[in-house]
Order: sequence, then structure tokens, then C-alpha cells
Amino acid sequence: MARIIAVANQKGGVGKTTTAVNLAAALAVAERPTLVVDMDPQSNATSALGIYLDRGDPSIYDMFVGRAKLEDLIRHDGLEALDVTPSSRHLTGAELELIDMEDREFVLARSLDAVRERYDFIIVDCPPSLGLLTLNALTAADSVLVPVQCEYLAMEGLGALMETIDRIQGSYNEELEIHGILLTMHERRLNLTRQVESEIRSHFGERVFSTVISRNVRLSEAPSRGLPALRYDARSRGARQYMDLASEVLERERAG
Ligand code: ADP
Ligand code: MG
Repeated sequence: MARIIAVANQKGGVGKTTTAVNLAAALAVAERPTLVVDMDPQSNATSALGIYLDRGDPSIYDMFVGRAKLEDLIRHDGLEALDVTPSSRHLTGAELELIDMEDREFVLARSLDAVRERYDFIIVDCPPSLGLLTLNALTAADSVLVPVQCEYLAMEGLGALMETIDRIQGSYNEELEIHGILLTMHERRLNLTRQVESEIRSHFGERVFSTVISRNVRLSEAPSRGLPALRYDARSRGARQYMDLASEVLERERAG
């Protein structure tokens, strides 16, 4: 049974999609069958994995409105063990369309049940909000991975996210765990990075991954080629750090 990890933070530009795509690719390279579920209407994870939908192709939006099954949306990436369910901008409308639906927080969780046995990991890339799409992801997930950009006011907003996680645990998904906090766009020589890192590590302790993701231009170039960093430049620092993150995720999984 796959472990479902939601990559969430309501702030945009903190490295959610980069993390979802590159962690998934690293797990796939370690021969762990992995599915990326793109839940962001901007579809950045979809295009970062080289998938471009034609007009009329079904996306995860069609799953939300009951027109397609999640298993019928699955596309295969260039890596043997990596699959993706694509998003599209139509998903923007899904939040409104879901409002009157009964059990609207459980649509993704139910759909994932059908494919859970095929994978070791399902990585859900969330949009930059705490709306219904993110609630669906957190309701479906076993754990949540929170990328935090090493910048001024990095901690701001984490409170709201932690409250949302508490609320989900209370109402929809008792078992939801915080898988870990990941420091992204880390620049060791900057005072600011060091301050943010020590503040977050002292606040969240063990829950912060020891792996940090440095600012690395290869990570920002790779999506324009439709490739995870591992396939774009396997020796880049970014690719290696996401391999380290995958090792840590696998270790945490073994530790239970
Ligand atoms: P989010 O999904 O949280 O909005 P992204 O993963 O899309 O964030 O990252 C925002 C931008 O920063 C993208 O252009 C991405 O390529 C770039 N980026 C992300 N992580 C890094 C990094 N470690 N080094 C350099 N650029 C990065
Ligand atoms: Mg994103």
C-alpha cells in the first residue's frame, strides 16, 4: 500500500512543485513505484514532467466532477517507475463546483483507493492555498511534507498551516502526520538562511529534515525541459540533494 505524502504550504514559490517532482523522481530511481498527483490548477508539476495535455484530454478536474476515474488519467513519465495524473486550469473551477457536494473533502481520498496498491509512494502537489483542493490532499494523505523557503518571514504562515493540519486531524483524517519540514532555497553563506534555519530547527526539532535544498539554478532550468533534475543534470547539486531527501524519506518510512 502506497504511503501518500501531500506537499503543502499555502505560500506560493516556496518549492512545493520542485519538491514533489524531484522527490518523486528520486524515489522512482530507487525503484520505488511512485505516482505524482498534480492538484494545482497551474499544472506546474504536470509540465515539469514533460506532460502537455491536448484540448479535451481529461485531467484531475474530470475526476473531481465525476467524469473520469483517477486510474484512467495516469500518464507515464520517462522514468520507469514514475507516473503522473495531470492537472489543468479547469481545476480552478473545481473548488466552486465542489462546494455543495456531500463529503467534498473525500473525493481525492476515495479515488486514490483504487490505485494505492500499485505504488509505494503517492506524492500530491498542492496549490498555494488552504482551499478545498488542499483539504482534499490533506484528507487523503498519510503525511504532509512542508517546504519552507529560507527567507525573511519564513515562519509566518506556518501557524495557519499547522492549524489547518490540526483541523483535518480533528475532522477528516485522524492519522495525518507531519512528515517533515524541508528547508528550500538554502544559501549557507547567507546570515538570513542561517537565522531562518536555526529558528525553524529550534521550533520544529526532529520534524525538520536534515537534508536541505540549496538554491540551485539547475532545479529552476529543468522544468522548462520537461524533466526532473535527475534526468536534466543528474550530477547537479539540486538533483543530489533530492536524492538525499528520498533516502531520508525512505529511512523515516522504515522507522515507521
Ligand atoms: P511552489 O510550487 O511552492 O509555488 P516552485 O517549486 O514552483 O514553488 O518554485 C518556485 C520557483 O522557484 C520555480 O521557478 C522553481 O523552478 C524555483 N525553485 C524552486 N526551488 C529552487 C531551488 N532550490 N533553487 C533554485 N530555484 C528553485
Ligand atoms: Mg507549485
